[in-house]
Amino acid sequence: DTETSDFVIDDKIVERIFKPRNEFSHKGTYGKVTIAGGSYGKIGAAVLATKSALKMGTGLTFSLAPKCGYEILQTSCPEAMFIEGGENHVNQFDIDETSVVGIGPGLGQNPETEKSLLQFLKKYSKPLILDADALNIISKDKKGLELIPKRSIITPHPKEFERLFGVTKDSFDRAEWARKKAHELQIYIILKDHHTQIITPDGNVFYNITGNAGLAKGGSGDVLTGILSSLLAQGYSEEDAAVFGVWFHGKAAEFAAEKHSKEAMLPTDVINEFGNVFEELN
Ligand code: AMP
Ligand code: MG
Repeated sequence: DTETSDFVIDDKIVERIFKPRNEFSHKGTYGKVTIAGGSYGKIGAAVLATKSALKMGTGLTFSLAPKCGYEILQTSCPEAMFIEGGENHVNQFDIDETSVVGIGPGLGQNPETEKSLLQFLKKYSKPLILDADALNIISKDKKGLELIPKRSIITPHPKEFERLFGVTKDSFDRAEWARKKAHELQIYIILKDHHTQIITPDGNVFYNITGNAGLAKGGSGDVLTGILSSLLAQGYSEEDAAVFGVWFHGKAAEFAAEKHSKEAMLPTDVINEFGNVFEELN
């Protein structure tokens, strides 16, 4: 193997990556995001990812979700535009070419959703963010992994990782496998855990040390998907988006815990702390 390096994500790395907002800008400067997800009973996941993408500073944000989520999304995220992707589950991914796509939160695994996602991926070649049920659907298809566009970011938690790549002994074993797979598939793997690791296609590993156990709740991962999609749309490279996004998510969680406690803080509270993280950076 060629040289690879391991890094801890520290303030120096974060300062190098962060790009302050330019006064001479307009919404076109900050890109377009489409969050594709949600299904009957899991519209909340789509809300969290969409809200997170909005609050992260995206220029224009779209939510592709089933019709059953229309009023919920338009009410909870009035700044986002709705694209109808089906009745009670998504069955089409008709997405604007100029948009960065984050797929998965609350998507569900209806056979129609599975079929349409695989079809979409067969035609799509730009880097995208894949999370949650998008990863579960890919893991069920024999050729699913090959359909992931190069330089995409996938965000499996340990169980999703094992569905995709097979059972592992422990987190060290998982990280080794991830290194191999990220290289083979030329993708970024964000191994979500209490200490998340980002593995690049070149085999470099970034360890994150922000965050806390208040994130150990349903919905936390959906917030991360929104952050990552937004950063890609704003022109950060895949590597910078992954490294800075994971750090940012944890940092917002630290602010949320200070205010609400680790027990009571909710993923929504994490989103509402983005402003404090930006204030510290600016
Ligand atoms: P998900 O399982 O998809 O909801 O994602 C959970 C998110 O919360 C990931 O970003 C994890 O890294 C983070 N997380 C979960 N538990 C902890 C923990 N104990 N400490 C820090 N981060 C955590
Ligand atoms: Mg998740």
